[in-house]
Amino acid sequence: MELREKNGEARGSLFEAIPMDGFLVRAKQHNLHGSTGPRAEIPTRRCSETPASVGGAGLNHWTILPGPSFASRLSPVARNRLQSSSMPLLRHLLFAILAFAALHVVSADAQTPALPDPDPGASLVLTDLTVVDIRTGALHTSQTVVIDHDHIIAVSAAGSAKLTVKAERVDCTGLFAIPGLWDMHVHLSFGDWFPGAKEILLPLFIANGITGVRDMGSDLDVVQSWRSDINAGRLVGPRIFTSGPMLDGPKPRFPNSVAIATPDDARRGVADLKHHGADFIKLQSLIPREAVFAIADEAKKQNIPFEGHVPDSVRASEMSAAGMKSFEHLIGIFEGSSPAEDDFLKGNKTESRFLATFDSAHARSLASLLAQNQTWQCPTLVWERGGNLLDITDLSKDTRAKYVPASWKNTTWKRFTDEITQGYGNDDLTIRKKFLAKELEIVHLLHEKGVPFLAGTDTPPGVYIFPGFSLHEELQRFVSAGFTPLEALQTATLNPARFFNLEDQFGAIEPGKLADIVLLHANPVEDISNTQKIAAVICNGHYFSRQALDKLFIQVESSAKNEPTPRH
Ligand SMILES: [Zn+2]
Repeated sequence: MELREKNGEARGSLFEAIPMDGFLVRAKQHNLHGSTGPRAEIPTRRCSETPASVGGAGLNHWTILPGPSFASRLSPVARNRLQSSSMPLLRHLLFAILAFAALHVVSADAQTPALPDPDPGASLVLTDLTVVDIRTGALHTSQTVVIDHDHIIAVSAAGSAKLTVKAERVDCTGLFAIPGLWDMHVHLSFGDWFPGAKEILLPLFIANGITGVRDMGSDLDVVQSWRSDINAGRLVGPRIFTSGPMLDGPKPRFPNSVAIATPDDARRGVADLKHHGADFIKLQSLIPREAVFAIADEAKKQNIPFEGHVPDSVRASEMSAAGMKSFEHLIGIFEGSSPAEDDFLKGNKTESRFLATFDSAHARSLASLLAQNQTWQCPTLVWERGGNLLDITDLSKDTRAKYVPASWKNTTWKRFTDEITQGYGNDDLTIRKKFLAKELEIVHLLHEKGVPFLAGTDTPPGVYIFPGFSLHEELQRFVSAGFTPLEALQTATLNPARFFNLEDQFGAIEPGKLADIVLLHANPVEDISNTQKIAAVICNGHYFSRQALDKLFIQVESSAKNEPTPRH
């Protein structure tokens, strides 16, 4: 579903020099801490009892180990303050005080809460856990997972784990561990159309087990500053990859877009975004054909991926051949599954025409091409359904609606709803329902042929697509399309890691991976809806107990009630 915004205006230039401080850079520079030998055991508590609070602080028993890498073990805030001090003498004094405090902690009784603000990334041992092997679906029972700061350093059967760090132990009997989830299509900062997004989106992602997002169009400087705060431990939120402003046609539909009329505009747009630290280029629908190919060419020269909508003027097969990394919302797929594709390039795309001219041979041949080129698909299935059924759906009374500010519901989502329902034209409800069924059929076909998939929601521009919650529904839609629950889970874990070429960093619960884990009360490989039964979330080594997650929900509800105004 595409929103049909007619009066959207591009905002002014967003290209202020902001130093890149992203996960990508940080992840590549990271080295694992060395181990320091066996330590005494400390008491164990039930997972649900661990009183972690917002920001991960609040683990009762924890320890800082002094040593050569001591500075790296300070809390991020303390470390930043230390590093930013311009007075060497003061810096040394601060270091001495903090070092003394840390040594004092080690010598204290392990059961005594030692500091009011412990390093949220301190070591953590999860015991008696069932780890879901995200590659095979195998269940490894009675596992011990050792986390040192932001990394998983060991995963092994109970009894065989050699603990090399003194750490908080959490008894996870009865729980299932899956890698942290990714929502691969979000918009974090969408001009001023979703006020207060920072207070709503970021905590809702974490509270729902989403530890990473691909931001498909936002104000770059805003998102970069949020990302810096998250990386420094000042803000609760997921890992972020962002495109910054989307590239669109001469009259963009949405805020934070760059207007592209000519190939020169296109090349300049790509170069500017690359220069200012965008992780990839996001294309929208209205870019003129010649400019689209200029984007593809310049992106290759600049060594930056380009992803997004298959533009209206170009065939899906052409975009795949040009190296576009991912397609969103299945745009271009129905067009390319029809002998009338050339007509569709000129306009007049309706769902009834897609259905009427659909041809299986065309569909199969396109699927083979996309599989051959490994062109990723992020079909945003929940929003496809939501957008097609807006006239018969009222989610304003949904229990999740309380987490969303009234202005989103009454202004932005209302406007989108009006525009979209008008855009239905002659596609009546029966046709739209048939189209949704056909979409699942096509997803099944593409999947069978070996086209790789990503789970994404398009929150929050998707009307009543609830941040965090809707990703779990997206996984269920994949199962409706014929994926096994394991394959659905992979679209939000292993596949994002492969997509970013960072399979060595995340996407699985294995030694050496970043510590992003969701603990569940039930087995998701048996029933995908079990991903919603969250017992705890670990994001970048920060432990959020059920209690801490509930606290995040309460805070979001209160932010939503207080009608936050735009604050960057
Ligand atoms: Zn989007």
